Amino acid sequence: MTQSAIYLDHNAASPLLPEARAAMVDVLELVGNPSSVHAHGRALREVVETARGEVAKLAGATAKQVVFTGSATEAITQAIVGGSRELKADAILVSGGEHSAVLKAAEATGLPVRIVGLTGEGVIDLDQVQSEMDRAEESGETLLVCVHWVNNETGVVQPMGRINAMVGASRHLLFVDAVQAFGKLPLEFATSAPDMMAVSAHKIGGAAGAGALLVKGHADTVRLIPGGGQEQGRRGGTEPVAVIAGFGAAAKAFSSRYGSNVVAGLAREIEAGLKALAPDVVIFGAGAERIGNTINFAVPGLQNAVAMMGLDLAGVSVSSGSACSSGKVGASHVLKAMGIDAALAGCALRVSLGWNSTKEDVAAFLEEFETVLTRHRSRQGRAA
Ligand code: PLP
Repeated sequence: MTQSAIYLDHNAASPLLPEARAAMVDVLELVGNPSSVHAHGRALREVVETARGEVAKLAGATAKQVVFTGSATEAITQAIVGGSRELKADAILVSGGEHSAVLKAAEATGLPVRIVGLTGEGVIDLDQVQSEMDRAEESGETLLVCVHWVNNETGVVQPMGRINAMVGASRHLLFVDAVQAFGKLPLEFATSAPDMMAVSAHKIGGAAGAGALLVKGHADTVRLIPGGGQEQGRRGGTEPVAVIAGFGAAAKAFSSRYGSNVVAGLAREIEAGLKALAPDVVIFGAGAERIGNTINFAVPGLQNAVAMMGLDLAGVSVSSGSACSSGKVGASHVLKAMGIDAALAGCALRVSLGWNSTKEDVAAFLEEFETVLTRHRSRQGRAA
């Protein structure tokens, strides 16, 4: 099967790193179950523990704090549904900009869910977080505060230092969805405030099918899947050793493969190119700190479904930032939480770069986007 030539959707899934592929292929040749005590089992156990060490290192965690899961969504659900139950939270506090995995897990707890807003630039409203914490203090409630570190749609980096200080100084619990920050920012899990964090393999060049929940302190008990006692009783089920090996290899190789300055430079070229093509382009979150690889933009009047289709036909894969599992382009709840009007949000496109993005990708994207834009303008001209 062949795929489009230009792939600019790394926030959805980053291409497999060669190191991850090699590690996975090696493991596929092995037989055994890592829980078996014989030599075959021990060989696979060693693979899992080596990978755990690499994931821990990239996350600034200890190996014991890493629980392998099947995805970040599973890790998030373990943290929020399992965590709120085992740590006896009374309510969940989430931001309106969370990934649906977090919002749905919060709902699934059956506890009251309080939603704090985002500023117009996509930053979590910290005054609102503080006032919800003060309110909970008065009523004696324990909150599980759930925030993301980097927004998958806009690339906005949340003020994690301030969030850590605020929640860390309280008796409330803190869960951080670090999926889009992992490998790009230092997580320092072991020495920072969050009780739990979630990360995912396929955002750093591993394969989909592995994620990890980072847990520490009293959160160490969190478990949704008791099963056969794997992962120190924290997540049952035979470990998918090949994908875990790929996750470990990706974690080890990611820093040398992903040049954040190079990626940020390419993203700046895209922004400059877009501004030259369409002076009325709106870049969402432009006034906030953003991770270097993500540009979420809209040219007013150019519907994202139309633009994406034009780009797709030309072999360029980008995203609306909110494609739901049905493959339809849906309205973005993140842009809505930022107060962006629905008509403009319907024009939002997300370009996300990664470890193998090149200047040629940028040039091809801009060329094809210009074609889409020219077609759109001539259609508009005919309609006028
Ligand atoms: N959280 C964020 C911020 C994400 O971007 C994603 C995936 O897009 C997820 C959670 C879910 O990750 P996974 O696909 O590993 O379940």
